Amino acid sequence: MFETILIANRGEIACRVIDTARKMGVRCVAVYSDADRAARHVAMADRAVHIGGPAPADSYLRGAAIIEAALETGAQAIHPGYGFLSENPDFVDAVEAAGLVFIGPSAKAIRAMGLKDAAKALMEKAGVPVVPGYHGDNQDLEHLSGAADAIGYPVLIKAVAGGGGKGMRLVTRPEDFNDALDSARSEAKTAFGNDAVLIEKYIQKPRHIEVQVFGDGETAVHLFERDCSLQRRHQKVIEEAPAPGMTDDMRAAMGQAAVRAAETIGYAGAGTVEFIVDGSRGLRPDAFWFMEMNTRLQVEHPVTEAITGVDLVEWQLRVASGGGLPKRQDALTINGHAFEARLYAEDVPKGFLPATGRLAHLRFPDGARADTGVRAGDEISPHYDPMIAKLITHGATRAGALRRLSAALRDCEVAGTVTNLAFLGALAGHDGFAAGEVDTDLIARDLDHLVVEPAPEPRDIALAALAAIGVLHDSDRSTGFCLWSPLTQTVHLRHHGDEIAVRVQSLSAEAHDVQVGDKTVAARRVGDRWQMDGQAAPNIVVSGALVTVFDRYGIGFDIVDPLDRAAMAAGDRDVIEAPMPGLVKLVTAKPGQEVREGDRLAVLEAMKMEHALLAARDGTVEEVLVAEGAQVAAGAALIRLASDNSEGNTA
Ligand code: ADP
Ligand code: ADP
Ligand code: MG
Repeated sequence: MFETILIANRGEIACRVIDTARKMGVRCVAVYSDADRAARHVAMADRAVHIGGPAPADSYLRGAAIIEAALETGAQAIHPGYGFLSENPDFVDAVEAAGLVFIGPSAKAIRAMGLKDAAKALMEKAGVPVVPGYHGDNQDLEHLSGAADAIGYPVLIKAVAGGGGKGMRLVTRPEDFNDALDSARSEAKTAFGNDAVLIEKYIQKPRHIEVQVFGDGETAVHLFERDCSLQRRHQKVIEEAPAPGMTDDMRAAMGQAAVRAAETIGYAGAGTVEFIVDGSRGLRPDAFWFMEMNTRLQVEHPVTEAITGVDLVEWQLRVASGGGLPKRQDALTINGHAFEARLYAEDVPKGFLPATGRLAHLRFPDGARADTGVRAGDEISPHYDPMIAKLITHGATRAGALRRLSAALRDCEVAGTVTNLAFLGALAGHDGFAAGEVDTDLIARDLDHLVVEPAPEPRDIALAALAAIGVLHDSDRSTGFCLWSPLTQTVHLRHHGDEIAVRVQSLSAEAHDVQVGDKTVAARRVGDRWQMDGQAAPNIVVSGALVTVFDRYGIGFDIVDPLDRAAMAAGDRDVIEAPMPGLVKLVTAKPGQEVREGDRLAVLEAMKMEHALLAARDGTVEEVLVAEGAQVAAGAALIRLASDNSEGNTA
């Protein structure tokens, strides 16, 4: 076994590789970009080497720098993870030329599967069923559209160098063919520097079923199938193993075809053979066709691990270090059912827009495996894929595993960014999905229902309002404030752009009646827990002006700062007042000081929240009316600016 390996990747996959290597007693070297200095994979590794700037081209794609880092740190092998350099045969050649081991297939095997057209031709020769279509060299428009007519519509145009769903167009009518071809070509040119395409029959009720294979360079075994039909725009969203409705005949036929594909190219290591399946008449052994082979570990490999008990990274390290295949085909069995959901920082209602943010809070649920590259406090940066984690559940039955997935999604707590948790939750609760009626159009068909974010309940809004005024935390009871005698205040929150005004009537530190619209929620403290109308309050996290209530999937509220409003309303007034009762924490203004509009003059702590008091205009401080540490009432004058009559609007 290797003593030291270098992991040429980042994020969850780098962490996942380190996990297994550590268990096997193998030392790990991480590489990182400027954006990842404090990343989890760097913290987990035994050593870490900086390789450049945040853009992948300046770091994680710099093969030479990565090889140099491996040589410098005494690593014997490089694990590429997925993405980045994992399917780059020139990198494999360079790794081997440097006397290092590439933990994966040979450059030759990667080249054989690198282009979809050549791979299809090769598979056809090996007797593996391929999707009917044209995958020849003639790229003339007339020839390709003629091929489409011969195949029969609908057809799919695919970039031969494609990946991640790019350079792919579905064409349903001949008259749309030319435009679709143009746009597929230009996308392929930009993304892959290769605008060659192939034409395929578009399979009806398509299901994406792929087979995990593992080779030692000569022979291969398969570790059964995964169903990845739940896709959005050809991108996988939830994956599972085994495939619902799979029959023994079809599994045997697909497994054999996948093993034949791997053995034909002398495959070593973990790989995935992707098939498209016609699901319109149930699963039948003659209705699956080869699409492509991914010559690397796949994002969704954990579902296979869950049902087979095999650690695929352990197998990768064992095979790459010269050991044979750890198990024979007849020793591999399926145990139960597993799901994986890809949790992303993305704004689903805004068209699944990738989101960023600092994770103010992150808690993964019990009862699920969470593969992640981030911790609470980490940043989801704009430089990389906004994945937060993969959540994997296992159960004896499909229904059991799916129930666990639903529960895991509900119990997952993420604050500091928007996520696709509610969308994943809606999918996990989808009736057709629960019944195993999966196909690649399921999400698109039901998108309108699936993207609806649950509206906040009055109890969520009430809780957020109480958090905004700082009465939820234990420490508040010991502050000695006596602000409750009966105090009514209005809190302004914002949720998805809508402003919500909430009236809080505080009866005591332990009892508040919160009016949300025409509903009044009774918030009472019982022991050290809060109850809303007699029900246990959901968990809540406050970070800065953002409150996240963990009542199903996390509902975020922005606190609209009353001081901002006060400052705005005050306009050009000379006196800065306390808009609510509180403690003057800090006074920075000095008499005679020149200030600019927006400068911070003092800080007021009101019910455990700090608020900056800002100058409402340019001017000179005439008088400071309070001292630090003073308790002030709402409306108390704190700082007076010299009246400046030269500014016409103050007259
Ligand atoms: P597949 O559909 O083949 O399983 P994935 O959905 O896992 O592929 O990813 C699509 C493409 O994007 C693949 O080429 C994969 O290698 C790449 N990819 C996915 N996630 C990342 C990531 N976090 N960093 C870099 N590349 C990635
Ligand atoms: P990529 O390299 O982008 O992963 P694939 O060839 O694997 O490209 O196709 C991606 C997805 O597109 C598949 O998972 C499937 O949902 C859909 N797809 C591909 N080929 C077909 C086809 N012939 N008929 C129907 N759907 C297809
Ligand atoms: Mg694919």
